[in-house]
Amino acid sequence: MNPNKPSLHFKLDAHSGEARAGVLTTRHGPIETPVFMPVGTGGTVKGIRFEELESTDLDARIILGNTYHLWLRPGVDVIRAAGGLHRFIGWDRALLTDSGGFQVWSLGALRKISEEGTEFRSHVDGSLRFLSPEVSMEVQAALGSDIVMVFDECVRSDASHEETERSMELTARWARRSKQAFEQLQATGADTGYQEVEGLSGTQALFGIIQGAGFHDLRRKSLERTVEIGFDGYAIGGLSVGEEKSVMFGVLEDIAPQMPKESPRYLMGVGTPEDLVESVARGVDMFDCVLPTRNGRTGQAFTSRGKLNIKNAQWTKDSRPLDESCGCSVCRRHSRSYLRHLYMSGEILASILLTHHNLAFFLDTMRGVRQSIRSGDFPKFRREFTERLSANGE
Ligand SMILES: [Zn+2]
Repeated sequence: MNPNKPSLHFKLDAHSGEARAGVLTTRHGPIETPVFMPVGTGGTVKGIRFEELESTDLDARIILGNTYHLWLRPGVDVIRAAGGLHRFIGWDRALLTDSGGFQVWSLGALRKISEEGTEFRSHVDGSLRFLSPEVSMEVQAALGSDIVMVFDECVRSDASHEETERSMELTARWARRSKQAFEQLQATGADTGYQEVEGLSGTQALFGIIQGAGFHDLRRKSLERTVEIGFDGYAIGGLSVGEEKSVMFGVLEDIAPQMPKESPRYLMGVGTPEDLVESVARGVDMFDCVLPTRNGRTGQAFTSRGKLNIKNAQWTKDSRPLDESCGCSVCRRHSRSYLRHLYMSGEILASILLTHHNLAFFLDTMRGVRQSIRSGDFPKFRREFTERLSANGE
Protein backbone atom coordinates (compact mmCIF):
# COMPACT_ATOMS: atom_id res chain seq x y z
CA MET A 1 0.00 0.00 0.00
CA ASN A 2 1.27 3.46 -0.84
CA PRO A 3 -0.58 6.01 1.28
CA ASN A 4 1.06 8.89 -0.55
CA LYS A 5 -0.71 8.06 -3.76
CA PRO A 6 -4.41 8.65 -4.48
CA SER A 7 -6.87 5.78 -4.72
CA LEU A 8 -8.40 7.33 -7.84
CA HIS A 9 -7.19 9.58 -10.58
CA PHE A 10 -9.66 11.95 -12.22
CA LYS A 11 -8.74 14.05 -15.22
CA LEU A 12 -11.14 16.38 -16.99
CA ASP A 13 -10.35 17.01 -20.62
CA ALA A 14 -13.32 18.91 -22.06
CA HIS A 15 -16.09 21.26 -20.93
CA SER A 16 -19.28 22.59 -22.46
CA GLY A 17 -20.94 25.05 -20.13
CA GLU A 18 -21.24 23.13 -16.84
CA ALA A 19 -20.97 19.76 -18.64
CA ARG A 20 -17.64 17.95 -18.25
CA ALA A 21 -15.93 15.02 -19.95
CA GLY A 22 -12.97 13.21 -18.46
CA VAL A 23 -11.42 9.94 -17.38
CA LEU A 24 -11.72 8.42 -13.92
CA THR A 25 -8.93 5.89 -13.35
CA THR A 26 -9.63 3.23 -10.73
CA ARG A 27 -7.52 0.27 -9.63
CA HIS A 28 -9.79 -1.75 -11.96
CA GLY A 29 -9.24 0.33 -15.03
CA PRO A 30 -10.19 3.64 -16.62
CA ILE A 31 -13.76 4.91 -16.95
CA GLU A 32 -14.69 7.66 -19.35
CA THR A 33 -17.08 10.20 -17.82
CA PRO A 34 -19.90 11.15 -17.81
CA VAL A 35 -20.73 7.51 -17.12
CA PHE A 36 -23.82 5.40 -16.48
CA MET A 37 -23.31 2.52 -14.03
CA PRO A 38 -25.65 -0.49 -14.37
CA VAL A 39 -26.97 -1.68 -11.01
CA GLY A 40 -25.97 -5.17 -9.88
CA THR A 41 -28.05 -5.36 -6.71
CA GLY A 42 -27.25 -8.81 -5.30
CA GLY A 43 -24.08 -9.54 -7.27
CA THR A 44 -25.82 -9.60 -10.64
CA VAL A 45 -26.99 -7.02 -13.12
CA LYS A 46 -30.34 -8.74 -13.49
CA GLY A 47 -31.01 -10.41 -16.81
CA ILE A 48 -27.60 -10.01 -18.43
CA ARG A 49 -24.33 -11.94 -18.47
CA PHE A 50 -21.03 -10.30 -17.57
CA GLU A 51 -19.68 -11.13 -21.04
CA GLU A 52 -22.41 -8.96 -22.51
CA LEU A 53 -21.65 -6.10 -20.13
CA GLU A 54 -18.03 -6.28 -21.34
CA SER A 55 -18.93 -6.61 -25.04
CA THR A 56 -18.39 -3.68 -27.41
CA ASP A 57 -22.18 -3.44 -27.63
CA LEU A 58 -22.37 -2.27 -24.01
CA ASP A 59 -18.81 -1.86 -22.72
CA ALA A 60 -19.87 -1.08 -19.14
CA ARG A 61 -16.72 -0.05 -17.27
CA ILE A 62 -18.21 0.06 -13.80
CA ILE A 63 -21.21 -1.57 -12.13
CA LEU A 64 -22.85 -1.24 -8.71
CA GLY A 65 -23.23 -3.71 -5.89
CA ASN A 66 -25.67 -3.22 -3.00
CA THR A 67 -24.11 -3.58 0.43
CA TYR A 68 -27.45 -4.16 2.14
CA HIS A 69 -28.45 -7.04 -0.13
CA LEU A 70 -25.03 -8.72 -0.25
CA TRP A 71 -24.56 -8.39 3.52
CA LEU A 72 -27.87 -10.17 4.19
CA ARG A 73 -27.35 -12.74 1.45
CA PRO A 74 -25.01 -14.52 0.84
CA GLY A 75 -23.27 -12.67 3.72
CA VAL A 76 -19.80 -11.28 4.24
CA ASP A 77 -18.22 -14.66 5.12
CA VAL A 78 -19.07 -16.19 1.75
CA ILE A 79 -17.78 -13.20 -0.21
CA ARG A 80 -14.63 -12.85 1.88
CA ALA A 81 -13.95 -16.57 1.42
CA ALA A 82 -14.20 -16.06 -2.35
CA GLY A 83 -11.59 -13.29 -2.11
CA GLY A 84 -13.97 -10.35 -2.51
CA LEU A 85 -16.87 -9.36 -4.71
CA HIS A 86 -14.86 -9.08 -7.96
CA ARG A 87 -13.75 -12.71 -7.70
CA PHE A 88 -17.06 -13.93 -6.31
CA ILE A 89 -19.06 -12.65 -9.29
CA GLY A 90 -16.34 -12.95 -11.95
CA TRP A 91 -15.98 -9.26 -12.86
CA ASP A 92 -12.57 -7.68 -13.30
CA ARG A 93 -13.70 -4.15 -14.08
CA ALA A 94 -14.56 -1.44 -11.56
CA LEU A 95 -17.18 -1.87 -8.83
CA LEU A 96 -18.93 0.73 -6.69
CA THR A 97 -20.89 -0.30 -3.61
CA ASP A 98 -23.54 1.80 -1.93
CA SER A 99 -23.58 1.96 1.87
CA GLY A 100 -26.93 0.32 2.57
CA GLY A 101 -28.18 3.61 4.02
CA PHE A 102 -30.78 4.15 1.34
CA GLN A 103 -32.04 0.54 1.48
CA VAL A 104 -32.55 0.48 5.24
CA TRP A 105 -34.15 3.93 5.08
CA SER A 106 -36.57 2.60 2.42
CA LEU A 107 -37.77 -0.05 4.89
CA GLY A 108 -39.92 2.68 6.44
CA ALA A 109 -41.73 1.53 9.61
CA LEU A 110 -39.58 -1.62 9.74
CA ARG A 111 -36.47 0.25 10.86
CA LYS A 112 -35.39 2.38 13.82
CA ILE A 113 -32.82 5.12 13.34
CA SER A 114 -30.66 6.36 16.23
CA GLU A 115 -27.42 8.33 16.55
CA GLU A 116 -25.55 5.03 16.57
CA GLY A 117 -27.08 3.59 13.38
CA THR A 118 -30.14 1.83 12.01
CA GLU A 119 -31.82 -1.24 13.45
CA PHE A 120 -34.07 -3.25 11.16
CA ARG A 121 -35.45 -6.68 10.41
CA SER A 122 -33.85 -8.62 7.56
CA HIS A 123 -36.25 -9.16 4.64
CA VAL A 124 -34.48 -12.49 4.06
CA ASP A 125 -34.92 -14.28 7.40
CA GLY A 126 -36.63 -11.75 9.73
CA SER A 127 -33.57 -11.52 12.02
CA LEU A 128 -32.83 -8.26 13.85
CA ARG A 129 -29.85 -6.47 12.24
CA PHE A 130 -27.92 -3.31 12.91
CA LEU A 131 -26.23 -1.17 10.28
CA SER A 132 -23.97 1.76 11.22
CA PRO A 133 -21.17 3.72 9.55
CA GLU A 134 -18.64 1.28 11.06
CA VAL A 135 -20.52 -1.86 9.99
CA SER A 136 -21.13 -0.48 6.49
CA MET A 137 -17.41 0.31 6.02
CA GLU A 138 -16.47 -3.15 7.30
CA VAL A 139 -18.87 -4.85 4.88
CA GLN A 140 -17.71 -2.72 1.96
CA ALA A 141 -14.06 -3.51 2.78
CA ALA A 142 -14.92 -7.23 2.77
CA LEU A 143 -16.64 -6.76 -0.61
CA GLY A 144 -13.47 -5.02 -1.84
CA SER A 145 -15.30 -2.60 -4.12
CA ASP A 146 -13.20 0.10 -5.78
CA ILE A 147 -15.47 2.94 -4.71
CA VAL A 148 -17.09 2.89 -1.26
CA MET A 149 -19.98 5.16 -0.25
CA VAL A 150 -20.34 6.69 3.24
CA PHE A 151 -23.29 5.56 5.36
CA ASP A 152 -25.96 8.26 5.13
CA GLU A 153 -29.57 8.98 5.95
CA CYS A 154 -32.26 10.16 3.53
CA VAL A 155 -35.42 12.05 4.37
CA ARG A 156 -38.83 11.98 2.72
CA SER A 157 -39.12 14.52 -0.07
CA ASP A 158 -42.01 16.16 1.84
CA ALA A 159 -40.13 16.44 5.18
CA SER A 160 -40.01 19.83 6.90
CA HIS A 161 -36.94 22.08 6.90
CA GLU A 162 -36.34 21.21 10.55
CA GLU A 163 -36.58 17.46 10.01
CA THR A 164 -34.38 17.66 6.91
CA GLU A 165 -31.76 19.68 8.78
CA ARG A 166 -31.65 17.16 11.63
CA SER A 167 -31.19 14.33 9.13
CA MET A 168 -28.55 16.22 7.16
CA GLU A 169 -26.55 16.88 10.35
CA LEU A 170 -26.79 13.19 11.26
CA THR A 171 -25.49 12.31 7.79
CA ALA A 172 -22.55 14.68 8.36
CA ARG A 173 -21.68 12.99 11.68
CA TRP A 174 -22.03 9.57 10.07
CA ALA A 175 -19.76 10.73 7.23
CA ARG A 176 -17.01 11.57 9.71
CA ARG A 177 -17.40 8.20 11.44
CA SER A 178 -17.45 6.46 8.04
CA LYS A 179 -14.16 8.07 7.07
CA GLN A 180 -12.52 7.19 10.36
CA ALA A 181 -13.59 3.55 10.16
CA PHE A 182 -12.66 3.43 6.48
CA GLU A 183 -9.10 4.63 7.14
CA GLN A 184 -8.58 2.09 9.89
CA LEU A 185 -9.82 -0.71 7.65
CA GLN A 186 -7.50 0.34 4.80
CA ALA A 187 -4.55 0.48 7.21
CA THR A 188 -5.24 -3.00 8.58
CA GLY A 189 -5.61 -4.67 5.19
CA ALA A 190 -9.33 -5.50 5.50
CA ASP A 191 -9.96 -4.51 1.88
CA THR A 192 -10.21 -7.75 -0.14
CA GLY A 193 -9.81 -5.82 -3.41
CA TYR A 194 -6.41 -4.31 -2.68
CA GLN A 195 -4.04 -4.51 -5.62
CA GLU A 196 -0.89 -2.79 -6.73
CA VAL A 197 -1.48 -0.38 -9.58
CA GLU A 198 1.00 2.03 -11.04
CA GLY A 199 0.38 5.59 -9.86
CA LEU A 200 -2.43 4.66 -7.46
CA SER A 201 -2.47 3.61 -3.82
CA GLY A 202 -4.23 0.34 -4.65
CA THR A 203 -6.70 0.91 -1.81
CA GLN A 204 -10.43 1.63 -1.92
CA ALA A 205 -11.75 5.13 -2.63
CA LEU A 206 -14.41 6.75 -0.44
CA PHE A 207 -17.15 9.12 -1.63
CA GLY A 208 -19.09 11.52 0.60
CA ILE A 209 -22.82 12.17 0.12
CA ILE A 210 -24.55 15.55 0.11
CA GLN A 211 -28.08 15.52 1.52
CA GLY A 212 -30.64 18.23 2.29
CA ALA A 213 -33.61 17.31 0.06
CA GLY A 214 -34.96 20.30 -1.89
CA PHE A 215 -33.68 22.96 0.56
CA HIS A 216 -30.83 24.83 -1.08
CA ASP A 217 -29.50 26.27 2.21
CA LEU A 218 -29.27 22.75 3.70
CA ARG A 219 -27.68 21.36 0.53
CA ARG A 220 -25.01 24.08 0.77
CA LYS A 221 -24.39 23.35 4.44
CA SER A 222 -24.20 19.63 3.70
CA LEU A 223 -21.74 20.30 0.87
CA GLU A 224 -19.57 22.41 3.20
CA ARG A 225 -19.58 19.76 5.93
CA THR A 226 -18.78 16.99 3.46
CA VAL A 227 -15.93 18.83 1.73
CA GLU A 228 -14.51 19.76 5.13
CA ILE A 229 -14.14 16.06 5.98
CA GLY A 230 -12.60 15.43 2.55
CA PHE A 231 -13.41 12.58 0.16
CA ASP A 232 -12.19 11.12 -3.14
CA GLY A 233 -15.48 12.05 -4.80
CA TYR A 234 -18.81 13.63 -3.93
CA ALA A 235 -22.30 12.29 -4.45
CA ILE A 236 -25.66 14.00 -4.37
CA GLY A 237 -28.15 11.76 -2.58
CA GLY A 238 -31.80 11.98 -1.72
CA LEU A 239 -33.03 13.10 -5.11
CA SER A 240 -35.47 11.29 -7.39
CA VAL A 241 -37.37 10.07 -4.30
CA GLY A 242 -40.73 11.52 -5.27
CA GLU A 243 -40.04 15.26 -5.59
CA GLU A 244 -40.83 17.27 -8.73
CA LYS A 245 -38.22 17.21 -11.51
CA SER A 246 -37.81 20.97 -11.22
CA VAL A 247 -36.70 20.51 -7.57
CA MET A 248 -33.96 18.08 -8.61
CA PHE A 249 -32.67 20.31 -11.42
CA GLY A 250 -32.87 23.34 -9.11
CA VAL A 251 -30.66 21.60 -6.54
CA LEU A 252 -28.18 20.53 -9.23
CA GLU A 253 -27.98 24.03 -10.72
CA ASP A 254 -27.24 25.47 -7.31
CA ILE A 255 -24.95 22.78 -5.89
CA ALA A 256 -22.96 21.20 -8.73
CA PRO A 257 -21.01 24.37 -9.66
CA GLN A 258 -19.99 24.70 -5.99
CA MET A 259 -18.72 21.12 -5.70
CA PRO A 260 -14.94 20.56 -5.90
CA LYS A 261 -14.09 20.89 -9.59
CA GLU A 262 -11.27 18.35 -9.53
CA SER A 263 -13.38 15.52 -7.99
CA PRO A 264 -15.97 13.26 -9.62
CA ARG A 265 -19.63 14.16 -8.96
CA TYR A 266 -22.14 11.34 -8.68
CA LEU A 267 -25.92 11.76 -8.77
CA MET A 268 -27.31 8.71 -6.98
CA GLY A 269 -30.23 6.68 -8.31
CA VAL A 270 -31.00 8.88 -11.32
CA GLY A 271 -32.66 8.39 -13.78
CA THR A 272 -34.33 8.37 -17.21
CA PRO A 273 -32.23 9.02 -20.34
CA GLU A 274 -33.44 12.64 -20.41
CA ASP A 275 -32.56 13.04 -16.69
CA LEU A 276 -29.02 11.87 -17.46
CA VAL A 277 -28.49 14.31 -20.32
CA GLU A 278 -30.05 17.20 -18.39
CA SER A 279 -27.97 16.42 -15.29
CA VAL A 280 -24.75 16.22 -17.32
CA ALA A 281 -25.63 19.70 -18.61
CA ARG A 282 -25.67 20.80 -14.94
CA GLY A 283 -22.25 19.32 -14.15
CA VAL A 284 -22.77 15.68 -13.07
CA ASP A 285 -20.21 12.97 -14.01
CA MET A 286 -21.64 9.67 -12.70
CA PHE A 287 -25.07 8.02 -12.57
CA ASP A 288 -26.70 4.74 -11.56
CA CYS A 289 -30.28 3.59 -11.93
CA VAL A 290 -32.29 0.37 -12.03
CA LEU A 291 -34.59 1.68 -14.79
CA PRO A 292 -33.02 -0.02 -17.84
CA THR A 293 -32.91 -3.44 -16.17
CA ARG A 294 -36.13 -3.26 -14.13
CA ASN A 295 -38.22 -1.84 -16.97
CA GLY A 296 -36.68 -4.34 -19.37
CA ARG A 297 -38.15 -7.12 -17.25
CA THR A 298 -41.59 -5.53 -17.33
CA GLY A 299 -41.69 -5.11 -21.10
CA GLN A 300 -40.65 -1.51 -21.44
CA ALA A 301 -37.97 -0.42 -23.89
CA PHE A 302 -36.19 2.96 -23.83
CA THR A 303 -35.63 4.23 -27.35
CA SER A 304 -34.37 7.39 -29.03
CA ARG A 305 -38.04 8.19 -29.74
CA GLY A 306 -39.33 7.64 -26.23
CA LYS A 307 -40.56 4.64 -24.28
CA LEU A 308 -42.01 1.65 -26.08
CA ASN A 309 -44.25 -0.86 -24.36
CA ILE A 310 -43.70 -4.22 -26.03
CA LYS A 311 -47.06 -5.52 -24.76
CA ASN A 312 -49.00 -3.17 -27.04
CA ALA A 313 -51.00 -4.94 -29.73
CA GLN A 314 -49.79 -2.43 -32.32
CA TRP A 315 -46.42 -4.28 -32.47
CA THR A 316 -47.98 -7.72 -33.22
CA LYS A 317 -46.78 -7.76 -36.83
CA ASP A 318 -44.24 -4.95 -36.71
CA SER A 319 -41.01 -6.09 -38.36
CA ARG A 320 -38.99 -3.05 -37.27
CA PRO A 321 -36.38 -3.27 -34.49
CA LEU A 322 -37.12 -1.72 -31.06
CA ASP A 323 -35.18 1.38 -32.08
CA GLU A 324 -34.22 2.02 -35.69
CA SER A 325 -31.33 4.24 -34.57
CA CYS A 326 -29.89 1.62 -32.19
CA GLY A 327 -26.99 -0.57 -33.32
CA CYS A 328 -27.17 -3.11 -30.47
CA SER A 329 -27.19 -6.82 -31.19
CA VAL A 330 -30.89 -7.11 -30.27
CA CYS A 331 -31.92 -4.35 -32.68
CA ARG A 332 -29.69 -5.79 -35.41
CA ARG A 333 -31.34 -9.19 -35.15
CA HIS A 334 -34.89 -9.09 -33.76
CA SER A 335 -38.21 -7.43 -34.58
CA ARG A 336 -40.78 -5.85 -32.27
CA SER A 337 -43.16 -8.57 -33.43
CA TYR A 338 -40.84 -11.34 -32.19
CA LEU A 339 -40.00 -9.56 -28.92
CA ARG A 340 -43.72 -9.03 -28.26
CA HIS A 341 -44.37 -12.71 -28.93
CA LEU A 342 -41.63 -13.70 -26.44
CA TYR A 343 -42.97 -11.32 -23.82
CA MET A 344 -46.60 -12.42 -24.21
CA SER A 345 -45.51 -16.08 -23.98
CA GLY A 346 -43.67 -15.42 -20.71
CA GLU A 347 -40.31 -16.45 -22.20
CA ILE A 348 -37.28 -15.43 -20.11
CA LEU A 349 -35.53 -14.40 -23.34
CA ALA A 350 -37.90 -11.41 -23.55
CA SER A 351 -36.43 -9.99 -20.32
CA ILE A 352 -32.88 -10.77 -21.43
CA LEU A 353 -33.24 -9.08 -24.82
CA LEU A 354 -35.10 -6.01 -23.55
CA THR A 355 -32.58 -5.56 -20.72
CA HIS A 356 -29.72 -5.81 -23.22
CA HIS A 357 -31.22 -3.20 -25.52
CA ASN A 358 -32.09 -0.84 -22.63
CA LEU A 359 -28.58 -0.99 -21.20
CA ALA A 360 -27.14 -0.49 -24.70
CA PHE A 361 -29.37 2.56 -25.14
CA PHE A 362 -28.32 4.12 -21.80
CA LEU A 363 -24.63 3.41 -22.32
CA ASP A 364 -24.74 4.57 -25.94
CA THR A 365 -26.49 7.78 -24.91
CA MET A 366 -23.63 8.48 -22.52
CA ARG A 367 -21.10 7.71 -25.27
CA GLY A 368 -22.85 10.31 -27.42
CA VAL A 369 -22.84 12.76 -24.52
CA ARG A 370 -19.07 12.33 -24.00
CA GLN A 371 -18.24 12.63 -27.69
CA SER A 372 -20.35 15.74 -28.09
CA ILE A 373 -18.76 17.44 -25.06
CA ARG A 374 -15.33 16.65 -26.50
CA SER A 375 -16.22 17.89 -30.00
CA GLY A 376 -17.97 21.00 -28.70
CA ASP A 377 -21.39 19.86 -29.97
CA PHE A 378 -23.07 19.09 -26.64
CA PRO A 379 -25.72 21.87 -26.85
CA LYS A 380 -26.75 20.53 -30.27
CA PHE A 381 -26.73 16.91 -29.03
CA ARG A 382 -28.85 17.84 -26.02
CA ARG A 383 -31.39 19.76 -28.15
CA GLU A 384 -31.73 17.01 -30.77
CA PHE A 385 -31.88 14.24 -28.17
CA THR A 386 -34.74 15.97 -26.34
CA GLU A 387 -36.61 16.79 -29.56
CA ARG A 388 -36.42 13.18 -30.77
CA LEU A 389 -37.56 11.78 -27.44
CA SER A 390 -40.66 13.95 -27.33
CA ALA A 391 -41.46 13.58 -31.03
CA ASN A 392 -42.84 10.09 -30.91
CA GLY A 393 -43.01 8.98 -27.29
CA GLU A 394 -45.90 6.90 -26.02
ZN1 LIG B 1 -31.04 -1.85 -29.39
